[in-house]
Amino acid sequence: MSAPVAIPETDILKPRWDKYGPHPYDQPDDGWDSAHEIDHVIPTHCCYCGMQCGMNLLVEKNRVVGMEPREDFPVNLGKLCPKGVTAYLQVHHPDRLTHPLIKENGAFRPASWEEALDLIERKFKEIQAKHGKDAVAVTGGASLTTERAYLIGKFARLGIGTKFVDYNGRLCMVAAAGANMKAFGVDRVASPWSDIPLSDVILCAGINVAECFPIQTRYLWEAKDKGAKLIVVDPRKTATARVADLHLQIRSGTDIALTNAILRILIEENLVNPAFIAERTNDYEAAVAAAMEVTVEDAATLCGVKADDIRRAALWYGHAKNAMVLHARGIEHHSKGVHNVLSYINLVLATGQIGRPGAGYGTVTGQGNGQGGREHGQKAEQLPGQRSITDPAAREHVAKVWGCSPDDLPGPGVSIYEQVDKILEGEIHGLISFCNNVAVSLPNQNRVRKAYTDLDFYVNVDFFLSETGRYADVVLPCAVWAEDEGTITNGEGRVIKINKAVDPPGEAKTDWAIMAAVAKRMGTERYFPFNEPREIFDELRKASAGGKADYAGITYEKIEANNGIFWPCPTEDHPGTPRLFEESFYHPDGRAVFHGIRYQTANEIPDAEYPFLLTTGRVVYHFLSGNQTRRIGFLRDQCPEPYVEMHPSSAKTLGIANSDLVWVSSRRGEIQLPARVVNTIRPDTLFIPYHWGDRQSVNLLTNDTLDPYAKIPEFKACAARVSRTQGGPCEGILAPDVSVGVLNATPETTGDPAKPDGGAS
Ligand code: SF4
Repeated sequence: MSAPVAIPETDILKPRWDKYGPHPYDQPDDGWDSAHEIDHVIPTHCCYCGMQCGMNLLVEKNRVVGMEPREDFPVNLGKLCPKGVTAYLQVHHPDRLTHPLIKENGAFRPASWEEALDLIERKFKEIQAKHGKDAVAVTGGASLTTERAYLIGKFARLGIGTKFVDYNGRLCMVAAAGANMKAFGVDRVASPWSDIPLSDVILCAGINVAECFPIQTRYLWEAKDKGAKLIVVDPRKTATARVADLHLQIRSGTDIALTNAILRILIEENLVNPAFIAERTNDYEAAVAAAMEVTVEDAATLCGVKADDIRRAALWYGHAKNAMVLHARGIEHHSKGVHNVLSYINLVLATGQIGRPGAGYGTVTGQGNGQGGREHGQKAEQLPGQRSITDPAAREHVAKVWGCSPDDLPGPGVSIYEQVDKILEGEIHGLISFCNNVAVSLPNQNRVRKAYTDLDFYVNVDFFLSETGRYADVVLPCAVWAEDEGTITNGEGRVIKINKAVDPPGEAKTDWAIMAAVAKRMGTERYFPFNEPREIFDELRKASAGGKADYAGITYEKIEANNGIFWPCPTEDHPGTPRLFEESFYHPDGRAVFHGIRYQTANEIPDAEYPFLLTTGRVVYHFLSGNQTRRIGFLRDQCPEPYVEMHPSSAKTLGIANSDLVWVSSRRGEIQLPARVVNTIRPDTLFIPYHWGDRQSVNLLTNDTLDPYAKIPEFKACAARVSRTQGGPCEGILAPDVSVGVLNATPETTGDPAKPDGGAS
């Protein structure tokens, strides 16, 4: 864990930035009249989670005026969640950025593209001349299309010439990715979601399907209707846990104790699959040795659940004809995230529950392109096709496609959180970020905000001014998902296509056009000759060919004709691969690998000073850092502010009543928010949703200890305390002011987070 960094109170940002919103209750110039003459119906997909539900955007005169769910897309079959039905309201939102902005004397002013690019060129060249090429870093995001995510890796390495590139999926799916690589030799969910209803037992670990991936609930219901048993492992009795046949309400961070106990029972009850283990796996003995070290009773004590419930889960899973393990951030957001995932994979391999209909395993991706965004090179250590940047053959292949020498490709960089270290240490001086909001989403926010204040020059590319954008010297406006085409790979490995409905507003450009424009100023435009996303995708197909994530045989036409194509798809006559591992795994010998995983505690455990275990997560109405959903009136009305869930017994001991305003503190910071006293949480645990910034960010508290393999932070377990503030019940005290009305077509000023008065004076 890094030491906390003290920064002035004034650097913890002020919530009011009127020009740039949020304006959640604005209405279109013509009101909400539904009498439109639709001239285009554009089939596309939701911009939010990894389900990528199908929807049609309804267009009238170059404006998106509505949407309808797509009945023809097999994932959602006409269903959308609250975020999906309101996603289109982003497109013409009054908060959209429409011009480049340059910060002068602590305030943003509109600028032309020429002026903004002149400044970027001068500053980046000055920084690189003084400190070397790697002194300018690049960050991307996993909501970007695969074309744009691919191009970010190329832009960093050849456009800017830096090794420092990474993305916000580092805060999301990388623990699963690391474990998948270690166990299976490839990083993709093993089974299509259509396999879920074919399972007899579904084990959901650290995944609140009902709120985080709402439409996936339909697969669980379908399985339950056929008689399947649902086991949920979660410290909270979530909406998903409430419909489970068995809820193991474990302490956050104790999954390995649980899985080892289950494996031990499977072994002792002869419920493992010896033929599968012998023919298709290696290193079973290591997993057995680790599992036999702790008794089921001791594991139950560590986890805080009944030993009999662990036995019941093991027997159900072990006796199932077909069983499925699904997991998400609940087991992945830990300093032992990769080990947590590997320990669940041990169960899958021991029972041979993989590679056939209804028998499977997989993580569910939080970000829309969580899968595709982590396959083609925007990760610090990766080249396209899930290739390693340190592999000479991979470097040669990609360099050939890119028209450069392998020696022109930098080596591996560091994770997006470790970039913060490099800024504070003076190694990174300049940064350009694409569509991420690290001033909300990274842990130990005081330290992150200090680092972004320290940057010599920062360019933020986004379509709304985010909390992170406020730190920028230049903000460049980009297109939203409805204003460009491209591919997304959803959480089951299905490559789908989003389509352009309307033009970007004002002078906003697509991210790929912005990369090409900056590259031109850096003298590297020869690597970015693209006129449309299709040309980028065709290059990506060549760059990924022969790699593990092989897209060579996927075309836009094929995607649209088949409602998506599952990779790997090496040739144009290949149908794609919905289910992996039917015959072999991806390691050279074709076998999967067990890992002997021993239980270790979270980096911080509760003590007398900080007696609670704090965990974080989502609510159904908001998406990630909230930069999109906090601007939509309906979503904001449903959940306007964060809160801390605590158990009635804990609340009583501390004299806290429901809705009281409380302080929640950790060793890194403190925030004030209302208490929500609920009996659905463990008495030793607190829960705070993470969709808010400024002083409402739970990431002011979270621990920045990283998993040693995946570099994912430990968002889901840190020590914390709660105390009641003076002043009685909270009645929306923390709800930010709502300002209505002003369009930002010609922005004038806004504040500077680095200035004590916000730059207003
Ligand atoms: Fe969008 Fe996910 Fe909701 Fe589907 S489940 S509508 S993809 S947010």
